[in-house]
Amino acid sequence: MSIDELYHEVILDHFRNPRHRGVISNPSASFKVFNPLCGDEVTVSVSIENDHLTQIGCQGRGCSISQASASMMASACEGKCPKDVRSLCEHFRAMLYKDGEPDAALGDAVSLAGVKKFPARIRCALMAWEAVERCVDQGKVKES
Ligand code: ZN
Repeated sequence: MSIDELYHEVILDHFRNPRHRGVISNPSASFKVFNPLCGDEVTVSVSIENDHLTQIGCQGRGCSISQASASMMASACEGKCPKDVRSLCEHFRAMLYKDGEPDAALGDAVSLAGVKKFPARIRCALMAWEAVERCVDQGKVKES
């Protein structure tokens, strides 16, 4: 597999037309992650109401993997409760570090499965997912 094959249509689409772009006003939590290896940055802000992440906003710059992954993360996690968000993040991490079928609940993010063949880029893909986990940690929501 070449690096060109990695950048297939779904990834480029999220990079060019990012979903959930922007910063939420008065967020319940926000977290910024840097990736010095690649110069990427991603800031995730979330609104938490009734124990659900009702709104997720992503702002950042950097390589297409990092920015597309943020768009995919927000699409997969918005509307979910913290427990489900943590579970999605675990599945995403497992997809990049272990073999096996990617979880369909990840939505378009399954198209990043090929990143595992490029260990230097795994960090790019994980940033936004780490940021949303930290938002959930900060957000002081009840987790049942
Ligand atoms: Zn990157």
